[in-house]
Amino acid sequence: MATSTYGWTERRTSAGAGAVAGRRAPLDVAAVRRDFPILDQTVDGKPLVYLDNAASSQKPRQVVEAIGAYYLRDHANVHRGVHELARRATEAYEYARERVARWLNAAGPHELVWTRGATEALNLVAFSVGRARVGHGDEIVVSEMEHHSNLVPWQLLAERRGAKLRHVGLTDDGRLDLDHLAALLGSRTRVVSLPHVSNALGTINPARDIAALVRERTGAVYVLDGAQGAPHLPVDVRALGCDFYAFSGHKMCGPTGVGGLWGRRALLEEMPPYQGGGEMIERVYANHSTWAEAPHKFEAGTPNIAGAVGLAAAVEYLDGVGLAAIHGHERALTRNAMVLLSGVEGLRILGPANAEERAGVVPFVIEGASAQDVATILDAEGIAVRAGHHCAQLVVDRYGVPATTRASFYLYNTVEEVRRLAEGVTAARRILLE
Ligand code: PLP
Repeated sequence: MATSTYGWTERRTSAGAGAVAGRRAPLDVAAVRRDFPILDQTVDGKPLVYLDNAASSQKPRQVVEAIGAYYLRDHANVHRGVHELARRATEAYEYARERVARWLNAAGPHELVWTRGATEALNLVAFSVGRARVGHGDEIVVSEMEHHSNLVPWQLLAERRGAKLRHVGLTDDGRLDLDHLAALLGSRTRVVSLPHVSNALGTINPARDIAALVRERTGAVYVLDGAQGAPHLPVDVRALGCDFYAFSGHKMCGPTGVGGLWGRRALLEEMPPYQGGGEMIERVYANHSTWAEAPHKFEAGTPNIAGAVGLAAAVEYLDGVGLAAIHGHERALTRNAMVLLSGVEGLRILGPANAEERAGVVPFVIEGASAQDVATILDAEGIAVRAGHHCAQLVVDRYGVPATTRASFYLYNTVEEVRRLAEGVTAARRILLE
């Protein structure tokens, strides 16, 4: 029997949440770090300090083991087979959907579409909602805070449909200008698509208040880019009041190449498919086809089954540690980093001055020094950060800098690592400017 020999839920629970059960705030970082063997290495003889989490997080062994176990015991294609392995693979894949949907507090698994990541999720919404709801002269509201993944798909849609893009401006301290947003909303607004958390500034946006504003003033579809929200904050999609929530597995301890789009059932049913192929059809005729029900209608082709399994294991892991504890820990690190970095001469931190309004992201510039050079010097100290526009060109344009150096924290980072970051930045400034 698939269920008795398979034992998927029991095995993963003991390897994942079981291994971290009992941890309560404050988070036991030493115990968490034991789950991430990759962190235990040196770079140029110095202990690795991984502060590039907004780009991609590391994976606990529980996630790697779940993927390995799936491939070593259970793999086959899903949904179509009648044999034992096909049954197990389908069970694992659909269990993963149910687990991640529950984590988001979706109304059910049918509201979760698997995608390659947040980028594909946002392209899916832009394409399918666009076809169903956006016409010539209609307006799509985004912001100057967008990652390119939540900007370019809407630009492409606007071009296809003759619609107009409207960009919410930012305040000097890195927040969405909500008065400007209110002024942009009107009878032609069909879509409002905004980040839950900014990858380039760290700002946690008031997503629920924005939902209320959007509902009050428009009949628009409200999309949240949750690529930086889901890994760091407890997410309840129904409480957030959005219609769609897009996220990436690899930023939240899961594997690359998998993510999801949560959508309200009625909207998913109304939307046309995004891609055509196997899996997404109900019946195919010579010149037309009918579609499977959502979410399968949006999942053409053989899916990333192992990716879904790994992402469910990641969610299990994060639940075991506790998102509230993770957020509290990151906030403490952020506060610390902001205090220490502010002491470096000529250094300016972008984004909200209050660490409480950030999700573990600290972007900064040092007057007269290139952001890339700072990152290169930090790398020589074993400290991994990112420099550039962070796929958010409008943000660096808004603040008049070509690039920033960005440190971003996650559950396994320590106060000692923040101290090494500040030391490294001080040294970089000295090397580059003195
Ligand atoms: N949105 C935001 C805010 C991001 O930070 C990212 C990735 O950095 C994305 C979207 C795109 O995510 P992915 O490249 O995993 O699809």
